[in-house]
Amino acid sequence: MLNPPMKTIQGIAVAPGIEIASAFVLEQFRQRVPHHIVVPEERAGELERFEQALQAAMDDLAADRDRAARDLSKEAAKIFEFHLGLLQDPTLLDPIRDKIGNAGTNADFAVASSFSRMIDQFNAMGSQVFRDKARDVLDLERRILDHLMGRSQERLSRLEEQVVLIAHELTPTQAASLGISQVVGLATDAGGRTDHTSIMAAALGIPVVVGCHAITEHVNDGDLIILDVRDGQIIIDPDEETLEVFRKAKKRLEQFLTETGQDVGAEAITRDGTKITLLGNIEFPHEVEQLLKYGGEGVGLYRTEFLYLISEDEPTEEELYEQYVQSLELLGGRTLTIRTLDLGADKHTQQQALEPERNPFLGLRSIRYSLQHLPMFRRQLRAILRAAAVGPLRIMFPLITTMTELKQARMILSDVADDLRQEGVDVPSDIPIGMMIEVPSAALMASTFSREVDFFSIGTNDLIQYTVAVDRSNERVANLYSASNPAVIRLVKNVIRAGKRRGVDTSLCGEIAGDITYTMLLIGLGLRSLSLVPAQIPRVKQVIRRVTLEECERLARKVGAFESHRRILRVLREETRRVLPEADGGWNAD
Ligand code: PEP
Ligand code: MG
Repeated sequence: MLNPPMKTIQGIAVAPGIEIASAFVLEQFRQRVPHHIVVPEERAGELERFEQALQAAMDDLAADRDRAARDLSKEAAKIFEFHLGLLQDPTLLDPIRDKIGNAGTNADFAVASSFSRMIDQFNAMGSQVFRDKARDVLDLERRILDHLMGRSQERLSRLEEQVVLIAHELTPTQAASLGISQVVGLATDAGGRTDHTSIMAAALGIPVVVGCHAITEHVNDGDLIILDVRDGQIIIDPDEETLEVFRKAKKRLEQFLTETGQDVGAEAITRDGTKITLLGNIEFPHEVEQLLKYGGEGVGLYRTEFLYLISEDEPTEEELYEQYVQSLELLGGRTLTIRTLDLGADKHTQQQALEPERNPFLGLRSIRYSLQHLPMFRRQLRAILRAAAVGPLRIMFPLITTMTELKQARMILSDVADDLRQEGVDVPSDIPIGMMIEVPSAALMASTFSREVDFFSIGTNDLIQYTVAVDRSNERVANLYSASNPAVIRLVKNVIRAGKRRGVDTSLCGEIAGDITYTMLLIGLGLRSLSLVPAQIPRVKQVIRRVTLEECERLARKVGAFESHRRILRVLREETRRVLPEADGGWNAD
């Protein structure tokens, strides 16, 4: 019998590796809800799944109604009463039951399609009253789908066999929870290489491909999947011959990773004796253990947003303080670079905002957000400054675009330090203060900024998007988002030069720091410190140990003369392949 043709889907490579496992399709709300046909013998179970989700949504509504009646008013409670009525309306529910029980549609899709028809009908009626009703129906849909999705999530956490997770996109919480599941690889419809969720998934050290457009529509639970991050491709239901090829490639890669992983004690030093400091990017204190395991020498970027993202309530000063202290203690005397809040854009739940921004990456994000939410900013600074007594710590401000912002941030910091000293807290006076260089205005003015800071950290994830005007999380324009764009390289070079002239310590903490394709170039441009995902340290170190500074400088000069990012990338890849041929599958640059 002939095998059916294999399906191949192209995405954007994020974290290197090859994985072969069955698919687990995560059902999620606010996405193209997966559509599949349930076999007749499982339809009763699927119907039951729907009934349970419906009941759970009604229980939630009843609880909200009671709470509203108690804490607000009888009028407020009536809204929930009205919603409860809608959820008992047979004109809405019967078609859903029919779709699941008779047509075999999966419950999620049956709910989503019936609700959207009703929403469209209300919206088409034109008046505000009906548009409001459409919003009510949308809320009810969310409530039911949340319960259906919750089950999918719950099933995922109980899985015993290893899976490749297929999802539309993940929330930061979902990405963080992958670490405790059996997920050995991830492919998503949406996303770009450096959006926040991709970064979190990459930190787990599993292969990740994002921006596959509609992979959730092509893959069913249980399909065999090959995730090949060398080319950012996903092969669905491969034939035996293809499987064999990839099994061998996977084995070769694993062998290489084991060998490099054993080398953690070795110094990151070029063949001709130039030392490169390799620091880690972390988001949680427990990642410090990983960092040390992989031979990292400190933390160059501690992203501090997570506690703010997972809850509607702001974390307390004490909670923040504990996290920072825990990280410092685990680091045992190595330096912790804490970046102040970088909320907004991809790290802010725009859904929670009353008026979502039209252009969040150009909006109230990062240091701008902190400067407009001073009590929140001051609470974080207090926690950081108090933690400074426990171990060496540096403070870094993100997304500085003007000198005024930097000066304001520094002024607030010193004001908070004065307050603490008045309260009797011993705040060290020599904490290094630095800034991230993530926008062209800062990169171009680096020599001016260098007079005001102790260190620079170049954030290429944002610097690329602002230089080439491409949203870093938008898969539709991902082909234009490239660190090898000559304009980006020129800006990076400008910052390194400005830093060197004034003795301002300059590091780079964007994702390219962990991509071996760029290691030689970055050293050749003059960087002596990189901050990267801990799991990527061994590979980068391998490249460093095999090259000379002269080779790197020659390469930087050579590509500096090219006009096209494709040509630059091709040469960088060729060089990397020459230096580290065993790392086949160990890169992620596009
Ligand atoms: C960057 O922009 O390069 C960076 C490191 O910050 P983030 O990815 O958190 O925006
Ligand atoms: Mg950034």
